[in-house]
Amino acid sequence: MAEVLKGVPAAAKLTEELTARCAALKAGGITPTLATLRVGEKSGDVAYESGASKRCEKIGIALKKIVLPENSTKDEILNRIRMINEDDSIHGCLMCRPLDDKDTERSACELLSPEKDVDCMTDLSLAGVFTGSGTGYPPCTSQACIELLDYYGIDVAGKNVAVIGRSLVIGRPVSMLLMQRNATVTICHSMTKNLPEICRNADILIAAIGRAKFIGADFVSAGQVVIDVGINMDNDGKLVGDVDYEAVEPLVRAITPVPGGVGAVTTAVLAKHVIESAERNS
Ligand code: NAP
Repeated sequence: MAEVLKGVPAAAKLTEELTARCAALKAGGITPTLATLRVGEKSGDVAYESGASKRCEKIGIALKKIVLPENSTKDEILNRIRMINEDDSIHGCLMCRPLDDKDTERSACELLSPEKDVDCMTDLSLAGVFTGSGTGYPPCTSQACIELLDYYGIDVAGKNVAVIGRSLVIGRPVSMLLMQRNATVTICHSMTKNLPEICRNADILIAAIGRAKFIGADFVSAGQVVIDVGINMDNDGKLVGDVDYEAVEPLVRAITPVPGGVGAVTTAVLAKHVIESAERNS
């Protein structure tokens, strides 16, 4: 049986550390504060905002919640970003993405002050991830994969890692974070040939595809660590990952569950970035 890499204990450990750091900031007169910006009522956005809020409240981070109607104009959304930039009491901003309008999303990302960019919306933060300069914060989900590997003592140095997905939210940034830790990374996507073979030959497999149970038994081999980033609904309306857990779990060394794996750590990483931002400004 594979070791199940549960996110909850990793998130709990981070939460404990952050609660102490938050208390120290408050004792010095600074209340770490996160602004959340949601446009419309998409269930995924509401769930992410709610999870982030609960985590922050537990740690002691204050919240400023902004919810705009689905039909908000570009100007209305950008004005809210301006208000967040100008409000010195706010240390970080989480905007639920993607927005329906790509142009508005791009403009909002470009407008946000880099020092409040706790989920890697701006090009400057992304550049920091790609150069390894330490400027800005990586996307929370990408960093959550690294936190999980660290928590379970899985060293990636010298290992072959196959990452499936090349989005700027997960696939590409997590590949850069892994490479900074001396992993040898193969980034795969929808045009990759021989995908099952590349995956089977990896020591660590990271699935960030967005297709329910796509990774079956033919993609894995004995001794592998499998990190499932996917959050999908199957045909029965059940939350599942990109990995067919029942088929893959008996074959590999370790695997993250969905739900309760990477997703559980993501909000703790968001809180970590808010605390770091408040510390940088103290
Ligand atoms: P995305 O932007 O849609 O990117 C998906 C990637 O998968 C693309 O690079 C795409 O390749 C690749 N892909 C699609 N079909 C493929 C196939 N048949 N074979 C190989 N590659 C394929 O998605 P995302 O935003 O990165 O999110 C990925 C997953 O993570 C989703 O399930 C999402 O819900 C989940 N997610 C989880 C968290 C969390 O906290 N756990 C947070 C955010 C997102 P191309 O580039 O060639 O199209």
